[in-house]
Amino acid sequence: MSARPLTLGDYHVHSTFSDDAVSTLAENIAAAEEAGLETLRLIDHVRASTTWVPEFVAAVAAEPVPEQLRVLTGVEAKMMDATGRLDIPDGLGDLTVVIADHQFPGSDGPWSPDETKRRLAEGLSDEAALQLLFDAYAAAMRGRRGSQLAHPFSILPKVGLAHLLASEQQAAEFVAVVVETGTLVEVNQKWGVSPVLPLGALLAADRVVMASDAHVATDVGRYDGAVLQPLADAGGSGPRVGA
Ligand SMILES: [Zn+2]
Ligand SMILES: [Zn+2]
Repeated sequence: MSARPLTLGDYHVHSTFSDDAVSTLAENIAAAEEAGLETLRLIDHVRASTTWVPEFVAAVAAEPVPEQLRVLTGVEAKMMDATGRLDIPDGLGDLTVVIADHQFPGSDGPWSPDETKRRLAEGLSDEAALQLLFDAYAAAMRGRRGSQLAHPFSILPKVGLAHLLASEQQAAEFVAVVVETGTLVEVNQKWGVSPVLPLGALLAADRVVMASDAHVATDVGRYDGAVLQPLADAGGSGPRVGA
């Protein structure tokens, strides 16, 4: 487990390169410094058609960074299907991809929540759906080593499957793939901790990072009881002094 409090990091912060975020890179860096963070990952939403990634990477590199702060980059992209295909443009090189379940990664492509509910109503079992999601995560992690999982399993409540739990085998395989591929897994302020996530084992393997999912600089590095309590319950570091 990390010796440093996890809350000294924020691995998921959006800037104006994302359509729905309002703060500049500089404002987010200043907010991270103000919050006393050690690590900040600046990421924005991409699709296969996105063309601004080189501009984004250059803009981050051009920002002055306070001495005690480590600034990382990445792009957030959704899984397209259960084979773990990602909605990313060509030419990312070794840029970190933050892998998201913004749609359900179905057997034949991304399913919206409504489409997923329809498939469930028409006979797809809850267990088979959950296995599709686990398959997608495993394949996506293996296809792009060193990635980060954004708000893992956040799609489940959207498709009416918030009640599901992972089997022991699913949890063990998930953790094994996370470790084998060097993946980081978020505890995300906006989405909370899914009961499906084997948080204790991920903490023990030192694979967990904190993520505010900030779309405005005032949210950078801010975590509350909704994520800190499950984290503490699972054996992770609680709020830092003064938070
Ligand atoms: Zn997301
Ligand atoms: Zn995000």
